[in-house]
Amino acid sequence: MKQSPYLAKAQLEMQPGSISNIGFLGDDKRNLQDILNEDAKTVAHLGVTHAQVADVMEKVMHEGKKAFGNPVLYKDFLQVTVESSRGKMPCPFGHPGMYPKEVVCVTNQKTNESMCWTALSIHMIRQHGFYQGKGSSFRIEPEKVVRVLEIVIDK
Ligand SMILES: [Zn+2]
Repeated sequence: MKQSPYLAKAQLEMQPGSISNIGFLGDDKRNLQDILNEDAKTVAHLGVTHAQVADVMEKVMHEGKKAFGNPVLYKDFLQVTVESSRGKMPCPFGHPGMYPKEVVCVTNQKTNESMCWTALSIHMIRQHGFYQGKGSSFRIEPEKVVRVLEIVIDK
Protein backbone atom coordinates (compact mmCIF):
# COMPACT_ATOMS: atom_id res chain seq x y z
CA MET A 1 0.00 0.00 0.00
CA LYS A 2 1.17 3.53 -0.75
CA GLN A 3 2.14 5.46 2.36
CA SER A 4 2.07 9.09 3.45
CA PRO A 5 5.21 11.27 3.37
CA TYR A 6 5.01 11.23 7.19
CA LEU A 7 5.36 7.44 7.31
CA ALA A 8 7.97 7.43 4.54
CA LYS A 9 10.09 9.81 6.61
CA ALA A 10 9.61 7.71 9.76
CA GLN A 11 10.65 4.61 7.82
CA LEU A 12 13.88 6.36 6.79
CA GLU A 13 14.62 7.15 10.44
CA MET A 14 14.12 3.45 11.21
CA GLN A 15 16.96 2.34 8.96
CA PRO A 16 20.13 1.06 10.66
CA GLY A 17 22.56 3.85 11.52
CA SER A 18 19.99 6.64 11.69
CA ILE A 19 18.51 6.78 15.22
CA SER A 20 19.88 3.44 16.35
CA ASN A 21 22.74 1.33 15.02
CA ILE A 22 20.56 -1.69 14.41
CA GLY A 23 17.47 0.19 13.31
CA PHE A 24 13.87 -0.84 13.93
CA LEU A 25 12.96 -2.88 10.89
CA GLY A 26 15.11 -6.01 10.99
CA ASP A 27 14.99 -7.61 7.57
CA ASP A 28 11.39 -6.57 6.97
CA LYS A 29 11.10 -5.26 3.42
CA ARG A 30 7.47 -4.17 3.63
CA ASN A 31 6.64 -0.50 3.80
CA LEU A 32 5.73 0.91 7.17
CA GLN A 33 2.06 1.33 6.32
CA ASP A 34 1.76 -2.40 5.61
CA ILE A 35 3.59 -3.34 8.81
CA LEU A 36 1.22 -1.12 10.81
CA ASN A 37 -1.87 -2.45 9.05
CA GLU A 38 -0.99 -6.08 9.61
CA ASP A 39 -0.18 -5.67 13.30
CA ALA A 40 -3.33 -3.58 13.83
CA LYS A 41 -5.35 -6.45 12.37
CA THR A 42 -3.63 -8.99 14.62
CA VAL A 43 -4.13 -6.88 17.74
CA ALA A 44 -7.82 -6.38 16.95
CA HIS A 45 -8.16 -10.12 16.39
CA LEU A 46 -6.61 -10.76 19.82
CA GLY A 47 -9.35 -8.59 21.34
CA VAL A 48 -7.04 -5.93 22.78
CA THR A 49 -5.96 -2.40 21.84
CA HIS A 50 -2.47 -0.94 21.43
CA ALA A 51 -3.07 1.13 24.57
CA GLN A 52 -4.04 -1.91 26.62
CA VAL A 53 -0.90 -3.79 25.53
CA ALA A 54 1.24 -0.71 26.27
CA ASP A 55 -0.36 -0.25 29.70
CA VAL A 56 0.60 -3.75 30.82
CA MET A 57 4.15 -3.44 29.42
CA GLU A 58 4.54 -0.13 31.24
CA LYS A 59 3.25 -1.52 34.52
CA VAL A 60 5.65 -4.48 34.32
CA MET A 61 8.59 -2.18 33.52
CA HIS A 62 7.65 0.12 36.39
CA GLU A 63 7.57 -2.81 38.85
CA GLY A 64 10.91 -4.10 37.56
CA LYS A 65 12.60 -0.72 38.00
CA LYS A 66 11.82 -0.72 41.71
CA ALA A 67 14.23 -3.65 42.15
CA PHE A 68 17.28 -1.76 40.80
CA GLY A 69 18.60 -4.47 38.50
CA ASN A 70 17.54 -7.42 40.62
CA PRO A 71 14.94 -9.83 39.29
CA VAL A 72 11.49 -9.32 40.74
CA LEU A 73 8.44 -11.53 40.52
CA TYR A 74 5.34 -9.87 39.11
CA LYS A 75 1.91 -11.42 39.71
CA ASP A 76 3.48 -14.74 40.83
CA PHE A 77 4.48 -15.86 37.35
CA LEU A 78 6.52 -13.19 35.60
CA GLN A 79 10.18 -12.72 36.41
CA VAL A 80 11.16 -9.15 35.53
CA THR A 81 14.65 -7.67 35.27
CA VAL A 82 15.46 -4.12 34.18
CA GLU A 83 18.99 -3.70 32.89
CA SER A 84 20.12 -0.13 33.12
CA SER A 85 21.80 1.29 30.08
CA ARG A 86 23.00 4.81 29.60
CA GLY A 87 21.77 6.93 26.80
CA LYS A 88 18.48 7.89 25.30
CA MET A 89 16.81 7.52 21.93
CA PRO A 90 14.27 9.68 20.12
CA CYS A 91 11.07 8.39 18.56
CA PRO A 92 11.55 7.66 14.82
CA PHE A 93 8.11 9.16 14.14
CA GLY A 94 9.54 12.58 14.98
CA HIS A 95 8.07 13.27 18.39
CA PRO A 96 10.03 15.62 20.61
CA GLY A 97 11.54 14.00 23.69
CA MET A 98 13.94 11.16 24.39
CA TYR A 99 13.40 7.66 25.72
CA PRO A 100 15.84 5.88 28.06
CA LYS A 101 17.59 2.90 26.49
CA GLU A 102 17.22 0.67 29.53
CA VAL A 103 15.85 -2.75 28.68
CA VAL A 104 13.27 -4.74 30.58
CA CYS A 105 13.33 -8.52 30.13
CA VAL A 106 10.64 -10.85 31.39
CA THR A 107 10.25 -14.61 31.63
CA ASN A 108 6.90 -16.27 32.10
CA GLN A 109 7.80 -18.94 34.63
CA LYS A 110 4.87 -21.15 33.70
CA THR A 111 5.95 -21.45 30.07
CA ASN A 112 9.61 -20.35 30.22
CA GLU A 113 8.96 -17.90 27.38
CA SER A 114 10.96 -14.66 27.49
CA MET A 115 10.92 -11.27 25.82
CA CYS A 116 12.49 -7.82 26.20
CA TRP A 117 11.54 -4.23 25.42
CA THR A 118 12.39 -0.60 26.12
CA ALA A 119 10.42 2.53 27.05
CA LEU A 120 10.53 3.50 23.37
CA SER A 121 8.94 0.16 22.42
CA ILE A 122 6.05 0.99 24.74
CA HIS A 123 5.68 4.50 23.32
CA MET A 124 5.71 3.27 19.72
CA ILE A 125 3.03 0.67 20.44
CA ARG A 126 0.82 3.12 22.32
CA GLN A 127 1.15 6.11 20.01
CA HIS A 128 1.85 4.54 16.65
CA GLY A 129 0.72 0.91 16.81
CA PHE A 130 4.29 0.05 15.77
CA TYR A 131 5.70 -3.28 17.01
CA GLN A 132 8.88 -3.02 14.86
CA GLY A 133 9.76 -4.93 11.73
CA LYS A 134 10.07 -8.70 11.46
CA GLY A 135 13.60 -9.76 12.37
CA SER A 136 14.28 -6.66 14.49
CA SER A 137 15.81 -7.71 17.81
CA PHE A 138 13.14 -5.71 19.62
CA ARG A 139 10.24 -6.86 17.46
CA ILE A 140 7.23 -7.40 19.75
CA GLU A 141 4.99 -10.04 18.20
CA PRO A 142 1.47 -9.04 19.30
CA GLU A 143 0.47 -12.68 19.89
CA LYS A 144 3.59 -13.23 21.96
CA VAL A 145 3.28 -10.19 24.22
CA VAL A 146 -0.35 -11.04 24.96
CA ARG A 147 0.61 -14.66 25.71
CA VAL A 148 3.77 -14.03 27.77
CA LEU A 149 2.30 -11.22 29.87
CA GLU A 150 -1.06 -13.01 30.02
CA ILE A 151 -2.91 -9.86 29.01
CA VAL A 152 -6.57 -10.49 29.62
CA ILE A 153 -9.03 -7.69 29.09
CA ASP A 154 -12.29 -7.87 31.01
CA LYS A 155 -15.08 -7.19 28.61
ZN1 LIG B 1 6.41 8.80 18.77
